[in-house]
Amino acid sequence: MSDRRARTYAVCAVKLDEDHTDAAEGTFDAALTNALVAIVAAEWPKEVRKSKGPTSQTKPASALLKLIRDKAEEAGSGVRIAPDGHDVFLLSDPHADEGNRGVEEAPAAETPWDDLFSEPWPAAGPLETRVDVGTLQDALDVTQPVRHAREDGDEAEEEPRLLERRHVEALLALDSHPSLRALVMEQEYRYEDSAQKQDEREREQAVRTLERIGEEEADRRAAAADELHDGPSPGDPYALEIQECPVCGYEAFSSDDGDELGMGVGFGECLVCHYRRTPAIANAIARQMEWQRRWERD
Ligand SMILES: [Zn+2]
Repeated sequence: MSDRRARTYAVCAVKLDEDHTDAAEGTFDAALTNALVAIVAAEWPKEVRKSKGPTSQTKPASALLKLIRDKAEEAGSGVRIAPDGHDVFLLSDPHADEGNRGVEEAPAAETPWDDLFSEPWPAAGPLETRVDVGTLQDALDVTQPVRHAREDGDEAEEEPRLLERRHVEALLALDSHPSLRALVMEQEYRYEDSAQKQDEREREQAVRTLERIGEEEADRRAAAADELHDGPSPGDPYALEIQECPVCGYEAFSSDDGDELGMGVGFGECLVCHYRRTPAIANAIARQMEWQRRWERD
């Protein structure tokens, strides 16, 4: 259950992270509701539903945000007011070392990776989850009137507000909670998925090239391929030999370099059909080979 919530959160949040102006209506609500239900179910399992009993509905996002805000007043709830923000709360990791609780966080500006990430989330320690209740509630106010289009004329004259980047940042920050931590996997999945689609297009293109040039030209190119490819040499002993192309079958695949696991899967271009294999695909094939090898060994 919690995995499904985390996955729904991740799918929606990654979409919003890529382009929050072009997300379908309800994407933000779906991400936020699933994240908050997962967090509250992990922290205070009895308080996630509207009334007692497992069949009762889960509370809406706004009620769950209010619950987190109220928890900051309860001693020992693991929720504290963030020192740097209005209506922002920090949830400590329930599995963190008890001794770490209440430790003053190091000033965020001193971390060495600040330069690498343009917008660090300040004031949350490594084991805390930053819940910006004010910003998340504001995001709900922005997204919900759109979905439940109001009839009265006064509302219609108002300029509709749009989701802003700060809303998305607040949503992404929830991923620190142990019940979520799902964004990296989803990003990787999407990256691989788009790399696979690109590879399919590359293959189709290469098949068309092969048809266009004909067999005689393909043979001529294959004969010349060895000359054109820079294989291993004293100056570059780890360069890959020319390989069989997975599309045309000629020994004509000229690798620029190999996969990150050192399995000898090259990325580069076939000198006959011009099929291009990207590093992402070479790495994916190498990982699969590695899994296969382990599976056969065990
Ligand atoms: Zn080829």
